[in-house]
Amino acid sequence: MDGYGIDSLPGFPRAVTLCEVGPRDGLQNEAGLVPVQVKVELVERLVDAGHTVVETTSMVHPAWVPQLADAEEVLRRIDRRPGVRYPVLVPNLRGLERALDLGVTDVAVFGSATESFARANLNRGVDESLEMFAPVVARAREAGLRVRGYLSMCWGDPWEGAVPIPRVVSVATRLLGLGCTELALGDTIGVATPGRVVALIGALRAAGVALDRIAVHFHDTYGQGLANCLAALQRGVTTVDAAAGGLGGCPYARSATGNLATEDLLWQLDGLGVHTGVDLAKLVETSVWLAGELGRPSPSRTVRALSGA
Ligand code: MG
Repeated sequence: MDGYGIDSLPGFPRAVTLCEVGPRDGLQNEAGLVPVQVKVELVERLVDAGHTVVETTSMVHPAWVPQLADAEEVLRRIDRRPGVRYPVLVPNLRGLERALDLGVTDVAVFGSATESFARANLNRGVDESLEMFAPVVARAREAGLRVRGYLSMCWGDPWEGAVPIPRVVSVATRLLGLGCTELALGDTIGVATPGRVVALIGALRAAGVALDRIAVHFHDTYGQGLANCLAALQRGVTTVDAAAGGLGGCPYARSATGNLATEDLLWQLDGLGVHTGVDLAKLVETSVWLAGELGRPSPSRTVRALSGA
């Protein structure tokens, strides 16, 4: 989107990879079930808009996440294009085998920095969940896959409050030690502020984690998503998660506000002259279409401003 000028800031990367998490992280938090055809069309529209990484679905048992019970059908129906990655969440070896059967090349495991969230979300503690992931990551790497290790509750946890940085660094380095190729730092309840983001990235760097292994995943619960992204990018992070139209939420966060909206982030990155390859106008069209399918407007300010909604 042009017309309002572009100026860069010192210390910024020239290009950023957007990891679009709307189809998985967004739709898994929808109250209603979204038809398979809508999910397939969503993924294809996101790729048409220029996305090269679209987290597509999850192989979690349908009893836990009924919203994504159609994972296999979605994967079969998507026209997977060369140069585009379609990561899939896999909770265990069985999920990984199902993903491998469908030719998936990118998977993700979903860990937690805190005991409370590990128990709430995975029904086991941090140590046990890492033990569960170990063979999954090993098998995936052996099969030549990229493996993202999500780390939830990196800055705050609804039961434990502020999460100590050494704690996060410890679980993060253990996840990478299992063989994860990327670490996604999740602010699952959206409580982080920019100084806290910079402090954690600095601690991870000091622990020997390379910047190109780090991705950030912010939620906009307290309106800090963009500020936190800006801080992470200024520290040299170049992979950022966002969800089209701000889809999704977290059942453990008080507010219904969910993932940082890709359009809001793109407005900022376009204005800073940072290359993403994603076309804002096409993305807005997609979110407006999806809002119609879901029966409610997008919470993204940029979607609203550009669509006149
Ligand atoms: Mg999220």
